[in-house]
Amino acid sequence: MPTTLHPPVLVQNDGLPIPQIGLGIYGPDDNEAADAVVNALATGYRSIDTAAFYLNEAGVGEGLRRSCIPREEVHVTTKVWGDDHGYDEALKAFDRSLSSLGLEYVDLYLIHWPLPAKDRYVDTWRALERILRDGRAKSIGVSNFQPHHLERLFADTEIRPVVNQIELHPGFQNEAVREFNAEQGILTQAWSPLGRGRVFESADLMKIAQKHSRSVAQIVIRWHVELGNVVIPKSVTPERMKENLNVFDFTLDENDHKTIRNLETGARTGDNPDLFG
Ligand code: NAD
Repeated sequence: MPTTLHPPVLVQNDGLPIPQIGLGIYGPDDNEAADAVVNALATGYRSIDTAAFYLNEAGVGEGLRRSCIPREEVHVTTKVWGDDHGYDEALKAFDRSLSSLGLEYVDLYLIHWPLPAKDRYVDTWRALERILRDGRAKSIGVSNFQPHHLERLFADTEIRPVVNQIELHPGFQNEAVREFNAEQGILTQAWSPLGRGRVFESADLMKIAQKHSRSVAQIVIRWHVELGNVVIPKSVTPERMKENLNVFDFTLDENDHKTIRNLETGARTGDNPDLFG
Protein backbone atom coordinates (compact mmCIF):
# COMPACT_ATOMS: atom_id res chain seq x y z
CA MET A 1 0.00 0.00 0.00
CA PRO A 2 1.53 3.37 -0.94
CA THR A 3 2.24 5.74 1.94
CA THR A 4 1.41 9.40 1.81
CA LEU A 5 4.41 11.20 3.22
CA HIS A 6 2.68 14.18 4.76
CA PRO A 7 -1.02 15.01 4.76
CA PRO A 8 -2.09 18.15 2.88
CA VAL A 9 -2.68 21.38 4.79
CA LEU A 10 -5.76 23.60 5.00
CA VAL A 11 -5.35 27.35 5.38
CA GLN A 12 -6.86 28.97 8.47
CA ASN A 13 -8.52 32.41 8.47
CA ASP A 14 -5.28 33.91 9.87
CA GLY A 15 -3.39 32.66 6.81
CA LEU A 16 -1.52 29.90 8.67
CA PRO A 17 -1.60 26.26 7.56
CA ILE A 18 -2.93 23.32 9.55
CA PRO A 19 -2.37 19.69 8.47
CA GLN A 20 -5.72 18.17 7.50
CA ILE A 21 -4.96 14.97 9.43
CA GLY A 22 -3.35 15.04 12.87
CA LEU A 23 -2.84 12.59 15.69
CA GLY A 24 -5.34 12.75 18.57
CA ILE A 25 -3.72 11.72 21.84
CA TYR A 26 -6.49 11.58 24.47
CA GLY A 27 -5.92 8.59 26.77
CA PRO A 28 -2.23 7.64 26.61
CA ASP A 29 -0.06 8.56 29.61
CA ASP A 30 3.21 10.46 29.22
CA ASN A 31 5.30 7.41 28.30
CA GLU A 32 2.82 6.06 25.81
CA ALA A 33 2.22 9.52 24.36
CA ALA A 34 5.97 10.09 23.85
CA ASP A 35 6.29 6.81 21.92
CA ALA A 36 3.13 7.54 19.93
CA VAL A 37 4.43 10.98 18.93
CA VAL A 38 7.79 9.54 17.83
CA ASN A 39 6.00 6.88 15.75
CA ALA A 40 3.47 9.32 14.32
CA LEU A 41 6.14 11.78 13.19
CA ALA A 42 8.14 8.92 11.64
CA THR A 43 4.99 7.84 9.79
CA GLY A 44 4.45 11.31 8.32
CA TYR A 45 2.14 13.08 10.79
CA ARG A 46 2.99 16.71 11.36
CA SER A 47 0.23 17.60 13.79
CA ILE A 48 -0.51 16.48 17.37
CA ASP A 49 -3.64 17.29 19.38
CA THR A 50 -3.27 17.23 23.17
CA ALA A 51 -4.84 19.16 26.09
CA ALA A 52 -3.99 20.05 29.68
CA PHE A 53 -6.84 17.71 30.66
CA TYR A 54 -5.13 14.73 28.96
CA LEU A 55 -2.22 14.92 31.44
CA ASN A 56 0.25 13.93 28.73
CA GLU A 57 1.63 17.27 27.50
CA ALA A 58 5.04 16.35 28.98
CA GLY A 59 5.02 13.09 27.01
CA VAL A 60 4.07 14.91 23.82
CA GLY A 61 6.97 17.36 24.31
CA GLU A 62 9.33 14.47 25.03
CA GLY A 63 8.22 12.70 21.84
CA LEU A 64 8.78 15.86 19.79
CA ARG A 65 12.31 16.21 21.14
CA ARG A 66 13.11 12.51 20.65
CA SER A 67 11.92 12.63 17.02
CA CYS A 68 14.53 15.31 16.15
CA ILE A 69 12.10 16.84 13.63
CA PRO A 70 12.56 20.64 13.59
CA ARG A 71 10.01 22.32 15.86
CA GLU A 72 8.68 24.56 13.08
CA GLU A 73 7.70 21.49 11.01
CA VAL A 74 5.25 20.18 13.62
CA HIS A 75 1.86 21.67 14.46
CA VAL A 76 1.09 21.33 18.19
CA THR A 77 -2.36 21.98 19.68
CA THR A 78 -3.24 22.11 23.36
CA LYS A 79 -6.30 23.35 25.25
CA VAL A 80 -7.33 25.22 28.40
CA TRP A 81 -9.54 23.15 30.71
CA GLY A 82 -12.70 24.34 32.47
CA ASP A 83 -11.12 24.80 35.92
CA ASP A 84 -8.94 27.49 34.37
CA HIS A 85 -11.61 29.66 32.76
CA GLY A 86 -11.15 33.39 33.41
CA TYR A 87 -8.50 35.84 32.20
CA ASP A 88 -5.77 35.39 34.83
CA GLU A 89 -6.50 31.70 35.29
CA ALA A 90 -6.16 30.98 31.56
CA LEU A 91 -2.87 32.89 31.34
CA LYS A 92 -1.50 30.79 34.20
CA ALA A 93 -2.84 27.57 32.68
CA PHE A 94 -1.13 28.43 29.41
CA ASP A 95 2.20 28.93 31.22
CA ARG A 96 1.80 25.50 32.82
CA SER A 97 0.98 23.84 29.47
CA LEU A 98 3.94 25.44 27.73
CA SER A 99 6.22 24.38 30.56
CA SER A 100 4.88 20.78 30.52
CA LEU A 101 5.35 20.61 26.76
CA GLY A 102 8.82 22.16 27.12
CA LEU A 103 8.06 24.46 24.17
CA GLU A 104 8.39 28.17 23.53
CA TYR A 105 5.12 28.38 21.65
CA VAL A 106 2.19 26.24 20.56
CA ASP A 107 0.71 26.38 17.08
CA LEU A 108 -2.88 26.35 18.29
CA TYR A 109 -4.39 27.02 21.72
CA LEU A 110 -8.07 26.16 22.20
CA ILE A 111 -10.74 26.76 24.82
CA HIS A 112 -11.65 23.10 25.50
CA TRP A 113 -15.35 23.66 26.38
CA PRO A 114 -17.48 26.84 26.58
CA LEU A 115 -19.03 25.90 29.98
CA PRO A 116 -21.94 28.34 29.60
CA ALA A 117 -23.05 27.85 33.21
CA LYS A 118 -19.74 29.36 34.37
CA ASP A 119 -20.13 32.17 31.86
CA ARG A 120 -16.41 32.94 31.70
CA TYR A 121 -15.52 31.93 28.16
CA VAL A 122 -15.42 35.55 26.93
CA ASP A 123 -12.77 36.46 29.56
CA THR A 124 -10.94 33.23 28.76
CA TRP A 125 -10.93 34.18 25.07
CA ARG A 126 -9.45 37.60 25.94
CA ALA A 127 -6.56 35.75 27.62
CA LEU A 128 -6.07 33.70 24.45
CA GLU A 129 -6.01 36.95 22.44
CA ARG A 130 -3.25 38.21 24.74
CA ILE A 131 -1.29 34.94 24.33
CA LEU A 132 -1.63 35.28 20.56
CA ARG A 133 -0.43 38.89 20.60
CA ASP A 134 2.55 37.84 22.71
CA GLY A 135 3.46 35.27 20.03
CA ARG A 136 3.26 32.33 22.41
CA ALA A 137 0.43 30.73 20.42
CA LYS A 138 0.60 31.13 16.64
CA SER A 139 -3.18 30.72 16.38
CA ILE A 140 -6.15 30.50 18.75
CA GLY A 141 -9.43 28.67 18.49
CA VAL A 142 -12.24 26.97 20.35
CA SER A 143 -13.67 23.53 20.91
CA ASN A 144 -17.24 22.43 21.50
CA PHE A 145 -18.63 25.90 20.77
CA GLN A 146 -22.20 26.12 19.48
CA PRO A 147 -23.02 28.95 17.02
CA HIS A 148 -24.52 31.11 19.78
CA HIS A 149 -21.29 30.84 21.83
CA LEU A 150 -19.30 31.90 18.78
CA GLU A 151 -21.68 34.80 18.10
CA ARG A 152 -21.03 36.08 21.59
CA LEU A 153 -17.26 35.99 20.97
CA PHE A 154 -17.75 37.85 17.68
CA ALA A 155 -19.77 40.55 19.49
CA ASP A 156 -17.57 40.97 22.58
CA THR A 157 -13.99 40.27 21.47
CA GLU A 158 -11.64 41.18 18.64
CA ILE A 159 -10.11 38.07 17.13
CA ARG A 160 -11.99 35.32 15.35
CA PRO A 161 -11.19 31.66 16.23
CA VAL A 162 -9.39 29.80 13.44
CA VAL A 163 -10.94 26.42 14.24
CA ASN A 164 -13.86 24.97 16.17
CA GLN A 165 -13.05 21.42 17.27
CA ILE A 166 -16.35 19.53 17.67
CA GLU A 167 -17.68 16.00 17.99
CA LEU A 168 -18.19 14.77 14.43
CA HIS A 169 -18.45 11.27 12.95
CA PRO A 170 -20.94 9.37 10.77
CA GLY A 171 -23.25 8.77 13.75
CA PHE A 172 -23.21 12.45 14.79
CA GLN A 173 -22.54 14.69 11.81
CA ASN A 174 -23.06 18.02 13.60
CA GLU A 175 -24.21 19.61 10.34
CA ALA A 176 -25.59 22.88 11.69
CA VAL A 177 -22.38 23.72 13.56
CA ARG A 178 -20.28 22.63 10.59
CA GLU A 179 -22.25 24.92 8.26
CA PHE A 180 -22.06 27.84 10.68
CA ASN A 181 -18.29 27.40 11.03
CA ALA A 182 -17.90 27.40 7.24
CA GLU A 183 -20.06 30.54 6.82
CA GLN A 184 -17.88 32.30 9.41
CA GLY A 185 -14.54 31.23 7.89
CA ILE A 186 -13.76 28.89 10.79
CA LEU A 187 -12.34 25.45 10.05
CA THR A 188 -14.21 22.50 11.53
CA GLN A 189 -11.95 20.04 13.31
CA ALA A 190 -13.57 16.66 13.98
CA TRP A 191 -13.02 15.04 17.38
CA SER A 192 -13.80 11.35 17.85
CA PRO A 193 -13.76 11.17 14.04
CA LEU A 194 -14.15 7.38 14.25
CA GLY A 195 -16.94 7.68 16.81
CA ARG A 196 -14.55 6.29 19.44
CA GLY A 197 -14.53 3.03 17.50
CA ARG A 198 -18.30 2.78 16.89
CA VAL A 199 -17.89 3.17 13.14
CA PHE A 200 -16.34 -0.30 12.99
CA GLU A 201 -19.72 -1.88 13.81
CA SER A 202 -21.50 -0.44 10.76
CA ALA A 203 -22.39 -2.97 8.04
CA ASP A 204 -22.92 -0.06 5.58
CA LEU A 205 -19.40 1.22 6.18
CA MET A 206 -18.02 -2.31 5.84
CA LYS A 207 -19.70 -2.58 2.43
CA ILE A 208 -18.23 0.73 1.25
CA ALA A 209 -14.83 -0.39 2.55
CA GLN A 210 -15.09 -3.64 0.62
CA LYS A 211 -16.08 -1.80 -2.56
CA HIS A 212 -12.96 0.41 -2.40
CA SER A 213 -10.66 -2.31 -0.96
CA ARG A 214 -9.99 -0.05 2.02
CA SER A 215 -10.53 -0.31 5.77
CA VAL A 216 -13.55 1.21 7.50
CA ALA A 217 -11.22 3.69 9.23
CA GLN A 218 -9.92 4.85 5.85
CA ILE A 219 -13.44 5.26 4.46
CA VAL A 220 -14.49 7.39 7.42
CA ILE A 221 -11.32 9.49 7.41
CA ARG A 222 -11.67 9.99 3.64
CA TRP A 223 -15.28 11.11 4.24
CA HIS A 224 -14.03 13.75 6.71
CA VAL A 225 -11.39 14.90 4.24
CA GLU A 226 -13.99 15.27 1.48
CA LEU A 227 -16.25 17.29 3.81
CA GLY A 228 -13.30 19.66 4.35
CA ASN A 229 -12.82 18.77 8.01
CA VAL A 230 -9.54 18.76 9.86
CA VAL A 231 -9.45 15.30 11.42
CA ILE A 232 -7.54 13.91 14.42
CA PRO A 233 -8.03 10.13 14.75
CA LYS A 234 -6.43 8.61 17.82
CA SER A 235 -4.15 5.60 17.60
CA VAL A 236 -0.95 4.50 19.29
CA THR A 237 -0.38 1.64 16.84
CA PRO A 238 2.07 2.52 14.03
CA GLU A 239 0.22 0.34 11.45
CA ARG A 240 -3.08 2.07 12.22
CA MET A 241 -1.49 5.51 12.24
CA LYS A 242 -0.14 4.79 8.76
CA GLU A 243 -3.47 3.40 7.57
CA ASN A 244 -5.28 6.51 8.83
CA LEU A 245 -2.99 8.82 6.83
CA ASN A 246 -3.21 6.77 3.69
CA VAL A 247 -6.47 8.18 2.27
CA PHE A 248 -5.34 10.45 -0.53
CA ASP A 249 -5.34 8.03 -3.47
CA PHE A 250 -9.06 7.22 -3.73
CA THR A 251 -12.37 9.09 -3.63
CA LEU A 252 -15.86 8.32 -2.39
CA ASP A 253 -18.73 8.57 -4.85
CA GLU A 254 -22.14 10.17 -4.46
CA ASN A 255 -23.74 6.89 -3.34
CA ASP A 256 -21.11 6.44 -0.61
CA HIS A 257 -21.83 9.97 0.64
CA LYS A 258 -25.58 9.30 0.58
CA THR A 259 -25.15 6.08 2.57
CA ILE A 260 -22.94 7.79 5.15
CA ARG A 261 -25.35 10.74 5.44
CA ASN A 262 -28.02 8.23 6.45
CA LEU A 263 -25.90 6.90 9.34
CA GLU A 264 -26.73 10.06 11.34
CA THR A 265 -28.34 9.05 14.65
CA GLY A 266 -28.39 12.40 16.44
CA ALA A 267 -26.66 10.68 19.38
CA ARG A 268 -23.47 12.17 20.79
CA THR A 269 -20.76 9.96 22.30
CA GLY A 270 -19.65 12.89 24.46
CA ASP A 271 -21.20 15.78 26.39
CA ASN A 272 -23.63 18.37 25.09
CA PRO A 273 -21.74 21.71 25.02
CA ASP A 274 -24.85 23.63 26.13
CA LEU A 275 -25.12 21.53 29.29
CA PHE A 276 -21.56 20.44 30.13
CA GLY A 277 -19.98 22.24 33.09
P1 NAD B 1 -11.54 8.25 17.69
O1 NAD B 1 -12.85 8.48 17.04
O2 NAD B 1 -10.31 8.80 17.07
O3 NAD B 1 -11.42 6.65 17.86
C1 NAD B 1 -10.32 6.09 18.50
C2 NAD B 1 -10.50 4.57 18.55
O4 NAD B 1 -10.41 4.04 17.23
C3 NAD B 1 -9.40 3.95 19.37
O5 NAD B 1 -9.95 2.84 20.07
C4 NAD B 1 -8.40 3.49 18.32
O6 NAD B 1 -7.63 2.40 18.75
C5 NAD B 1 -9.33 3.09 17.20
N1 NAD B 1 -8.67 3.20 15.87
C6 NAD B 1 -8.00 4.26 15.37
N2 NAD B 1 -7.55 3.98 14.14
C7 NAD B 1 -7.96 2.73 13.84
C8 NAD B 1 -7.82 1.89 12.70
N3 NAD B 1 -7.17 2.30 11.61
N4 NAD B 1 -8.35 0.63 12.76
C9 NAD B 1 -9.02 0.19 13.86
N5 NAD B 1 -9.19 0.95 14.97
C10 NAD B 1 -8.67 2.21 14.95
O7 NAD B 1 -11.68 8.69 19.24
P2 NAD B 1 -11.10 9.78 20.24
O8 NAD B 1 -9.78 9.41 20.77
O9 NAD B 1 -12.21 10.01 21.22
O10 NAD B 1 -10.95 11.11 19.36
C11 NAD B 1 -9.76 11.46 18.70
C12 NAD B 1 -9.10 12.67 19.32
O11 NAD B 1 -10.00 13.78 19.38
C13 NAD B 1 -8.70 12.47 20.79
O12 NAD B 1 -7.58 11.64 20.94
C14 NAD B 1 -8.49 13.90 21.20
O13 NAD B 1 -7.25 14.37 20.71
C15 NAD B 1 -9.66 14.60 20.49
N6 NAD B 1 -10.85 14.78 21.36
C16 NAD B 1 -11.22 16.04 21.69
C17 NAD B 1 -12.34 16.27 22.48
C18 NAD B 1 -12.73 17.67 22.80
O14 NAD B 1 -13.59 17.88 23.66
N7 NAD B 1 -12.13 18.67 22.18
C19 NAD B 1 -13.10 15.19 22.96
C20 NAD B 1 -12.71 13.90 22.61
C21 NAD B 1 -11.59 13.70 21.79
